[in-house]
Amino acid sequence: MQKVAIQIRENMSFEKLNLSNEILKSVKKEGYTEPTPVQMQTIPMILALRDVFATAQTGTGKTAAFVLPILQNLGKKSKRKDSKDSPRALILVPTRELAIQVHNFVKTYGSNLSLKSTVIYGGVSENTQKEELEKKPQIVVATTGRLIEHINSGSIKLDEVEVLVLDEADRILDMGFSKEIQEIISRLPKKRQNLMFSATQNEAVKKLANAILVQAVKVKITRENRTSLNVKQSVIPVVSEQKMELLSHLIGIRNQQVMVFARTKLQAEELVKHLKLDGLKTVSIHGDKTQAARLKALNSFKEKTAKVLVATDVASRGIDIELLPLVINFELPDNPQDYVHRIGRTGRAGESGEAISLICKDEFFRLKSVENLIKEKLEQNPMDGYEHEMGKRPTHDNITDEMRNNAKKSQKKPYIKKETRSRTGKKRKTTKRDSR
Ligand code: AMP
Repeated sequence: MQKVAIQIRENMSFEKLNLSNEILKSVKKEGYTEPTPVQMQTIPMILALRDVFATAQTGTGKTAAFVLPILQNLGKKSKRKDSKDSPRALILVPTRELAIQVHNFVKTYGSNLSLKSTVIYGGVSENTQKEELEKKPQIVVATTGRLIEHINSGSIKLDEVEVLVLDEADRILDMGFSKEIQEIISRLPKKRQNLMFSATQNEAVKKLANAILVQAVKVKITRENRTSLNVKQSVIPVVSEQKMELLSHLIGIRNQQVMVFARTKLQAEELVKHLKLDGLKTVSIHGDKTQAARLKALNSFKEKTAKVLVATDVASRGIDIELLPLVINFELPDNPQDYVHRIGRTGRAGESGEAISLICKDEFFRLKSVENLIKEKLEQNPMDGYEHEMGKRPTHDNITDEMRNNAKKSQKKPYIKKETRSRTGKKRKTTKRDSR
């Protein structure tokens, strides 16, 4: 593969990228003043119909990097007859959220062109999507599983696809869709343009790239598995019993919108319950939620009616929330690459952001894997009033009177209903041990 050698010039403009007036108008309407590095490097290559293999994190503007030139290429060629059953561009993405988001960008950036598009993803009825496919869209954005279902039921053909995009290819592979990708590729014409985007890289991604890309231009925006430089990262060591309390405390003192990551659906629901008790308007998205419920949650977070969005890793990709200032990892993920994706929710498109991970002793090994992956040691900032076991553990010699008193207080006493104030200052009714 060939590495692209484009000099990143100061004040590079979209006009210099040879984009058409129709595209330039929509870019301007979005308020973009100059292309991001991934856009500078990939747009000319895609316009020249080259295959591209780009390593770019989410938040770098990678969606526009492929959507803008694809729209221009498709719009330029003579209109094809409406009788064709196959789209001309197929964009494969890992999650429903990303599918909707990418499709929204296709509609926004293509608002001055007459190219029909649609989006297909699982978790909702196939019939409405079939009706949309019957309108012969030229661009289809799809998640892998649902696309296979439409192929099998005969509602889509792929024999006229001119350009294939694998967006967040590493994630599609992580989700176990390797076979399905092969199946989809076997339905495509041999002669086509292939574009692969991946935030992180591993052997499986490289293998797939070697299998499908032809003389591709390789574009690398950041070091592999590198987290965004705009995100201030830190770790707060804390004992597991105090994690919930610390979470409410942090959200309370920050008074900012925050996205909180949990490792499991169960954990996510527990967090929602706890934060709601603390008076924080909290919504959640995870695999057990219906598509409608996920969209509702996401919209109330985007409209800023909800202050906290709790999510699992399923949802960690493909969410674009403008100016999200803070991400809190309630627990570190099992897969260290998910850490990179999680914190990519903040510090997007040049804005600064912050990512805080709450770590207890049992998670130390996860912290090590994250640090090994990102080749960076994360700053540990213990917080006053919160115990941790990362360094010195209490021994008989260093146990203080306060610790002894706390231990006495926590000895079993009958439960009574009490009204307490949470760390955020809101009243909450809770069941407490009687302190009499
Ligand atoms: P992405 O990496 O595609 O998820 O894009 C992240 C965010 O960057 C989105 O909110 C885009 O609207 C925004 N964006 C994309 N290109 C530009 C640009 N050239 N200037 C400013 N913002 C951009």
